[in-house]
Amino acid sequence: MTQVAEVNQLKEEIKNLKQQLHDKEIVFNNILDSTLAGYWDWYIQDNYEYLSPTFKSMFGYEDHELPNSPETWQKIIHPEDLKKVLKIFDKHVATKGEFPYDNEVRYFHKNGSTVWVFCRGKVIEWDNEGKPVRMVGCHVDITKLKQAEEAKKYMRQLEVTNKELEQFSYVASHDLQEPLRTVSGFTELLSKKYGDSLDKEGKLYIDYISQASVRMSELVKALLDYSRIGREKKLKQVDCNQLIEAIKSDLSVRLAETNAKIEACKLPLVKGYETELRLLFQNLISNAIKFSQPDIDPIIKVSAEKEGNYWKFSVLDNGIGIEPEHQQRIFRIFQRLHNKNKYEGTGIGLAHCYKIIDLHDGKIWVESEPNVGSNFQFTIPL
Ligand code: ADP
Repeated sequence: MTQVAEVNQLKEEIKNLKQQLHDKEIVFNNILDSTLAGYWDWYIQDNYEYLSPTFKSMFGYEDHELPNSPETWQKIIHPEDLKKVLKIFDKHVATKGEFPYDNEVRYFHKNGSTVWVFCRGKVIEWDNEGKPVRMVGCHVDITKLKQAEEAKKYMRQLEVTNKELEQFSYVASHDLQEPLRTVSGFTELLSKKYGDSLDKEGKLYIDYISQASVRMSELVKALLDYSRIGREKKLKQVDCNQLIEAIKSDLSVRLAETNAKIEACKLPLVKGYETELRLLFQNLISNAIKFSQPDIDPIIKVSAEKEGNYWKFSVLDNGIGIEPEHQQRIFRIFQRLHNKNKYEGTGIGLAHCYKIIDLHDGKIWVESEPNVGSNFQFTIPL
């Protein structure tokens, strides 16, 4: 082969190699882009750093908006994390790359939000004096992961606080009963032993004390019951038809006295906590009887229908109804709309219902019209 031919062949090979290199670069860039990872290429001694467009878009910037220099990222990284990163960089260099340059850091997005980034880098070139010349690395946005971690941590904290609160209300209401018994016991003794020597006012005061302690004892008991809901969770298939039959039999005297009727459609089997579900129906039905309109016999209709992934139940009555502005607060603990002399009760029944439905991952609400009736509805997942 002549020298000219050899040169030409070499030129051809170089052209091919260049083409291959170009192809590889295109493939490399496309793959990097599809991983959504940004990358950087830092010529440390020249103070030049290439920042890929994905690197910049991770923080809300167009490619042309940020210059390719190390100052760019140092300006938008969280100042506390910059210190951390520089320390890790020094260690990476001091150990000749042995110590990994891995960071989880916060950057400021153009819109002011925080972007969490996992950054891994490596010095790939050193000079004769052992100083770093070139370093490359990549950036992955881990904000969603961090947010999920935070949410999980928050949920765990909430669960602990909830347990503590339940424990607290259980202990508080349980321990309050003892002094209450003492108060009512001694009030009774006082009235028996010294009642005759007291004037009218004195007798009235003793009466108030004993009425108040009876009331307080009712409230404490209600609180104790509330804190007990869901304590012994036993999930099983519950036949709601059987629950209603049992409630009808429990309330038979009351139903006869008030001339109330319970009309139940065919109800489904649900996965739930039997004791709690029974309490739920019992509370709603008892309320429907209690808050009936004078001279109108209470009729309570219980039904259920499938709606999406839930069973939607309804307990409909023809009672006094509830003004729209009170329809949400009645589900809170000890919230009542009437004087206890008009309608007896502690105001905890619907708070029980709310907690029970929450335990079943459902929702409870009421639609109601004053002097027409109320429709208490709740959902339980299929
Ligand atoms: P309680 O029945 O002991 O007062 P609840 O928590 O069961 O406590 O109910 C809270 C309040 O909601 C009741 O005091 C009443 O004013 C209102 N309420 C509940 N159920 C009905 C109903 N079916 N019809 C009209 N009002 C109701």
